[in-house]
Amino acid sequence: MSFDLTAATPAAPAVADDGVWLACIECGEQFAPFSAIRYTCDHCDGLLEVRYADPPTFDDFEGRGVWRYAAGLPFAEGVTLPEGDTPLHRVPRLEESVGVDTLRIKHEGMNPTGSFKDRGMTVGVRVARELGVDRLACASTGNTSAALAAYGGRAGMATLVLLPAGKVAAGKIAQAALHDARILEVDGNFDDCLDIVQNLAARGEVYLLNSLNPFRLEGQKTIGFEILEAFRDDYGRFPDRIVLPVGNAGNTAALYKCFRELVQSGALDPEQVPKLTGVQAEGAAPMVEAVQEGNDTVRRWDDVETIATAIRIGNPVNAPKALPGIRNTGGTAVAVSDEEITDAQRTLAREGVGVEPASAASVAGLRKLRDSGVVDADEDVVCLTTGHLLKDPDAAFAAGNKPESVPNDTDEILTYLAEN
Ligand SMILES: *Cc1c(COP(=O)(O)O)cnc(C)c1O
Ligand SMILES: [Zn+2]
Repeated sequence: MSFDLTAATPAAPAVADDGVWLACIECGEQFAPFSAIRYTCDHCDGLLEVRYADPPTFDDFEGRGVWRYAAGLPFAEGVTLPEGDTPLHRVPRLEESVGVDTLRIKHEGMNPTGSFKDRGMTVGVRVARELGVDRLACASTGNTSAALAAYGGRAGMATLVLLPAGKVAAGKIAQAALHDARILEVDGNFDDCLDIVQNLAARGEVYLLNSLNPFRLEGQKTIGFEILEAFRDDYGRFPDRIVLPVGNAGNTAALYKCFRELVQSGALDPEQVPKLTGVQAEGAAPMVEAVQEGNDTVRRWDDVETIATAIRIGNPVNAPKALPGIRNTGGTAVAVSDEEITDAQRTLAREGVGVEPASAASVAGLRKLRDSGVVDADEDVVCLTTGHLLKDPDAAFAAGNKPESVPNDTDEILTYLAEN
């Protein structure tokens, strides 16, 4: 099956455009990539995946940022701000306290709008231009709306975002507003917003740029290329495990796709592929439930709650792509409490890495899996932190030190410091 890690490179079908086409992951039907707008399979409604006749090797990459990886993308350039090229931080104190051989933090909060969503949008908006659409839309827990607004604005397109009322962090709404998105606050959760925007897209009102759109995942795939290249440059080997927060499971699917394509091109041996390890919040953990119970499908959770609003999702649309990724790489999934998330956020921040709560879930999950012995002490691990601390100032204030009022006087301040 094509979703195996070791499946051969498929031959380009007649519908391919320059060696690129879309394939249904359920029934295998193939479609021309840019001749019509489609998000799912015409026949079975299955998820679509972008396929290439010529998957890339590491030697094909040149330049910087997401477009360094153009050999593995549908276009040579895109609508760019620019994005990618994010740091792979060393965190020696955290590495020691978690107790693994190597721990690095891939901080995706360092992208232009402060989350990895920018990687998906630089490709997605380029595709929108190719298709000739001019009105873009998404449902969002916040970061997708910020990225869509910025990249849509850059491309001169109108943007419409649907947000769950009262559940989006302040920094993210501020971005969407100033980048000129039209913001609709829905009296429902993220999954309800996604249902509605899918209906709008199906009626031809808007071009959908949620991660259901297979081209978004192409851009996000470059997180994997960057991690593998940087880790290899520093240590001469690849990481054993990549731990990431899971919401709609787009990134999990994208990383798996990165690995499969490198295996197809011969750039990576199947046994070198890192174990994909997903982390969800206890109050929104349908993927964890499916992995732990060994289910092939994910049960939709109608009521979800967590401080990590970016992963407050009960119906992960990319689960059919992500579950095989976790299983076929020998990975796993784990749920963490909001308290564990806040703790990890604080620990990361004390080592200089400022992330929003959802991002810290990766570190909280790693700690839990290490404590329970699922992760070995001799592993090389990369944790993905997906969004910047400033995205959610309220969470940061609540988790951090409280400002102290002092008199406007040096001596009195010295006295205060001595006494407190
Ligand atoms: C979108 C987002 C996620 C979830 O990513 P998926 O690809 O949907 O699993 C996690 N963290 C942050 C900060 C995000 O913005
Ligand atoms: Zn199909």
